[in-house]
Amino acid sequence: MTKRKKSAVDPAVRVEELRDVIRRHEHAYYVLDQPEVSDAEYDAIFKELRQIEEDRPDLLTPDSPTQRVGGEASDQFAKVRHRSPMLSLQNAFDESEIRGFDKRVRAAVGDKVIYCAELKIDGLAISLTYAKGRLQRAATRGDGTIGEDVTANLRTIRSVPLAVTPAKGLPDLFEVRGEVYFPIAGFEKLNREMEAAGKPRFVNPRNTAAGSVRQIDPNVTASRNLQTFMYTLDPAGPARSQWDVLNALAAMGFRVNKNRRRLHSIDEVIEYHAEWQRRRHELEYEIDGMVVKVDGFAQQLELGFVARSPRWAIAFKYAPEQAETEVEEIACYVGRTGVLTPVAHVKPVVVGGVTIRNVTMHNEAQVNEKGVYVGARVVIHRAGDVIPEIVSVKDPKPGWKMPSKCPVCGGEVVREEPYIAHRCINPFCGAQRLERLRHFAAAMDIEGLGHATLTQLIDRRMVEDPSDLYRLSREQLVELDGFADKSAQNLVERIAASNRPELGRFVYALGIPQVGWATADLLASDFASIEEVRDATEEDLKRVDGVGPNMAREVRMYFQGPGGELVEKLLAVGIEPRGVEPVGDGPFSGKTFVFTGTLETISRTDAEALVRKLGGKAAGSVSAKTDYVVAGPGAGSKLEKAQKLKLNVLDEAQFKALLPK
Ligand code: NAD
Repeated sequence: MTKRKKSAVDPAVRVEELRDVIRRHEHAYYVLDQPEVSDAEYDAIFKELRQIEEDRPDLLTPDSPTQRVGGEASDQFAKVRHRSPMLSLQNAFDESEIRGFDKRVRAAVGDKVIYCAELKIDGLAISLTYAKGRLQRAATRGDGTIGEDVTANLRTIRSVPLAVTPAKGLPDLFEVRGEVYFPIAGFEKLNREMEAAGKPRFVNPRNTAAGSVRQIDPNVTASRNLQTFMYTLDPAGPARSQWDVLNALAAMGFRVNKNRRRLHSIDEVIEYHAEWQRRRHELEYEIDGMVVKVDGFAQQLELGFVARSPRWAIAFKYAPEQAETEVEEIACYVGRTGVLTPVAHVKPVVVGGVTIRNVTMHNEAQVNEKGVYVGARVVIHRAGDVIPEIVSVKDPKPGWKMPSKCPVCGGEVVREEPYIAHRCINPFCGAQRLERLRHFAAAMDIEGLGHATLTQLIDRRMVEDPSDLYRLSREQLVELDGFADKSAQNLVERIAASNRPELGRFVYALGIPQVGWATADLLASDFASIEEVRDATEEDLKRVDGVGPNMAREVRMYFQGPGGELVEKLLAVGIEPRGVEPVGDGPFSGKTFVFTGTLETISRTDAEALVRKLGGKAAGSVSAKTDYVVAGPGAGSKLEKAQKLKLNVLDEAQFKALLPK
């Protein structure tokens, strides 16, 4: 982050300093399409300048960035003077700011206000001029007054109509404004192609869209498959509101975003904003907020404009999902199977509304592909519930190496082909023991066996493997920090209550390398008991739908080694895994189902159990043998495969309709 000295300096000096920095960033962002800092950082500097100018109006100058829009038009293009200025928007970053906007609006036009809320597309503003229904000119916003002529480039975008039938009441010459953006899927594809060609990745869809529009060669623009959403019509003809305009544009064949709503109070606006904050990842494009506009034109006119933005609209922003920070250390975390995972400890930074301190990378190869090192400036991305990742590194340098000794036990670290991961091969490694126990407790749903308790149990040699948990007594637990009589008794009872797990859960809890929930469930639906799973040969295992040769070998090796002993010990302390009830005929017998994506009214495990109860099979992977694929929001490769194989794809409601009444 740029260091911001605040109060100590003379405001007159500070405003000039801030204006210089902002002009430099605007040039990098608007003209070169290569921002040097994150949007959040730019916004913070901009806000500081606006605050000083508000406190000290004598320091305000007409050429201040707060009084102007965007960046200057580049000399690479012919310049275009806009018929009316293309403005920017005021911003609200939180609820109190949007309520402040509402108050100002109501103070000016009274209490009868309707807002038109639209998604704020994170793209590039464009203007399209039509003469007698034909696209005559396309221009970028530029500095709001003078833009760049990008007609040849915009003509290559399929959703930009080259000819339209003007709505009734429009003059021969009219202008349509909106946003050009880079769809996320296309952006990711472009980056995969860049990577394959050994070229650097693009940082974000917004600047890449801007770069793609501002190309000398229209073929490059065409190859990028950009998209548009339009939202302004000037003049507006018979339209009396923003809502009318959006409908008129859609009727003329422009692409208009369907996620829009007319709202009657600021509370409704806040609610709608929150809804899209949650749902923004369902969209095939990036949004950085919601634009809230006073709907009626009569009221818009009354409210008017300030220097660079209308008073009747505001951008109600979302927390940025990317931020820049610095790597302070690359540590290694040892998992339950001994795999070492590199973790970059970074200077704390807020991304997607959450403070990030650690970013996990998969393995040594990934660290080096990205070129991460201690001291590197990195851009971190975190979207919704998605785990944070490093998307790019300034000045990347490969050459980071995994330690040759385990950072926890000092044991030897090796990389076994064909795996890409490095592993500590000491079976007594303390980190692995702790992680195995943690995994077991979490998988068996035993609450209250966290890191701190397990560490004490291991240090006091009260527990070595999961079977020891079932021998713990209240008296022993009371000895530990953080336990009293009652909490000790509760934990003993919770452990005891976990002794009849479903077979799938138990197999997963064992922590067999490579065996996650899905595979454990597959094994549980193919074998009747834990003894059968334990004694299965590699051949038996390979016959299970979704189990490949590598996994079959891992499972076999696990049970032949210490895993077999552990199962014996767990059975000896009274664990009784419950195999899936063998089902006779049911409405689903002979049918295989695969669930993918999020189900909304039932958990995936429950849906799978239901299928089994009704005589069917719930598989973890899609194959030609699958009868039904039930796909919820967020379904990915399984759905694609199902479509390729032309399988029966159901949504949740269609699946429920199949259930007996
Ligand atoms: P803005 O992006 O905050 O808002 C105005 C723009 O929103 C309009 O011009 C329009 O293009 C767009 N928009 C999208 N959907 C819309 C809709 N439905 N209705 C109306 N408008 C819609 O303001 P700005 O002046 O274009 O740019 C400021 C933004 O650019 C900030 O987010 C800032 O962080 C970023 N920026 C970053 C840097 C940097 O160095 N990182 C530099 C300059 C600007």
